[in-house]
Amino acid sequence: MSERIENSQDLRDGLSGEELFSRQNVGLTYRDFLVLPGYIDFNPSDVDLETKLTRDITIKRPLISSPMDTVTESEMAIAQALMGCIGIIHYNNKASEQVDLVRKVKRYENGFISDPIVLGPNDTIQDLDAIKEKHGFSGIPITEDGTPKTKLIGIVTNRDIDFEKDRSIPLGKLMTKELITAQKGISLLEANDILKKSKKGKLPIVDSQGLLVSLVSRSDIKKNRDFPFASKDESKRLRVGAAVSTLPESRDRVDELVKVGVDVIVIDSAQGHSIYQVEMIQYIKKKYPGLQIIGGNIVTQGQAKALIDAGVDGLRIGMGPGSICITQDTMAVGRAQATAVYNAAMYAAKHGVPVIADGGISNIGDLANALAIGASTCMMGFMFAGTKEAPGEYFYENGIRLKKYRGMASMEAMKTGGGKRYFSEDQKIKVAQGVSGTVVDKGSVLNFIPYLIQGLRQSFQDMGHRTVVDLHKALRNGDLRFERRSEQAQLQGSVHGLYSYTAPTMRAE
Ligand code: 5GP
Repeated sequence: MSERIENSQDLRDGLSGEELFSRQNVGLTYRDFLVLPGYIDFNPSDVDLETKLTRDITIKRPLISSPMDTVTESEMAIAQALMGCIGIIHYNNKASEQVDLVRKVKRYENGFISDPIVLGPNDTIQDLDAIKEKHGFSGIPITEDGTPKTKLIGIVTNRDIDFEKDRSIPLGKLMTKELITAQKGISLLEANDILKKSKKGKLPIVDSQGLLVSLVSRSDIKKNRDFPFASKDESKRLRVGAAVSTLPESRDRVDELVKVGVDVIVIDSAQGHSIYQVEMIQYIKKKYPGLQIIGGNIVTQGQAKALIDAGVDGLRIGMGPGSICITQDTMAVGRAQATAVYNAAMYAAKHGVPVIADGGISNIGDLANALAIGASTCMMGFMFAGTKEAPGEYFYENGIRLKKYRGMASMEAMKTGGGKRYFSEDQKIKVAQGVSGTVVDKGSVLNFIPYLIQGLRQSFQDMGHRTVVDLHKALRNGDLRFERRSEQAQLQGSVHGLYSYTAPTMRAE
């Protein structure tokens, strides 16, 4: 390796990272430059994308879902962690709601449905039909009062209701009362065994008082995947982060989040260089020295220094590059994202603090470029908002299947508390720094992340680096070479001249 580099030293063309970002006083985005190809002596499957989220947390894959109310709640965070990434639960909700979402992730066990849909004895076949139509499954546990918190008293399956003409009959009259259940704490293997022997479709798991805890489904057994890359803590529970604001109320929130085992707190502020954030970091670090804290958002080295001095374990970079974001237009403050990431990352690396490139990523090339200029992980809202695991239902517009995606400083989100990120919560007149819109269906994160990871591996191969650590070393010592792209070069680098073509869909087929 070193011999190859020495021999080719004087043939190096292009620019080092330092030259790329310092020779011109103009802010660059991911699309303004390319990485020059390196030497390939390995396969994409040899690329290992393990990386640092914070000083003390390592994850196997460098992706994060944003703390936004149309992106990350428990379903997204579970899927992210299963895939070796991590989700940060948003805080546009009551503290108790956010805590519940974090708890769900920490309690998740692969193969167990931890919040099964239930009905009560007075609900009717019609209610069950509606669930079947919406979610496509039957086999519904019946609890005393129709909520998941009370005692399990029966189960209703297709067989119990198929031939009933009168759909208004209460389920209490039809349900199977002789139940085969299993006790909480049983392994998935044991649960599968019981299902096979009993020939039932669903196995309710109950606690010592008979309260329903979860459900194992026969049809899921076949689908059950292994997740060898899953992000897990020392107790083998999935990892999850939670965002909090810099407002004083967040101190109680942090206490509650810590109680349910949150792995990392993200202090979520659009402009992180503030006395409020510095005090918040110092307060949390003093109270919970081992708790990992990510500060931000920042875009300059001075800002990075302030938050590192205050004690953060990770930094989030980005002010204004987000797809839903109008901060730069509205406030005239911010920084072009690649320049921000490079500068902050170079400073933070000297202090052993990993940085997150947050916002403005809309394809695999953006991901690769963000990592190449020093980011350890990439945070995305846009990329994940159209997936099945994002909060909200799909709907159709002009025949296209869509989901809603909104900025946390959009008028709509601010009305329900999103303004906490922008110090605008108590302002009577609100100025939006984000928009509400829609994004197209991207399928499940469980298929989409492998697609992104495969693309990234191929990109690492082209760059000639097998790991994120290697890539960053090459960035710092100048071996990684870059080139600015003229506008014409950018045009040439995209499809051009064709009469028509089919753009690849950004999803795993
Ligand atoms: P995207 O992945 O959509 O390009 O960017 C997501 C990022 O945009 C989030 O992680 C967050 O940092 C930022 N963001 C979220 N909501 C807003 C907003 O309303 N305004 C601004 N300026 N940034 C936002």
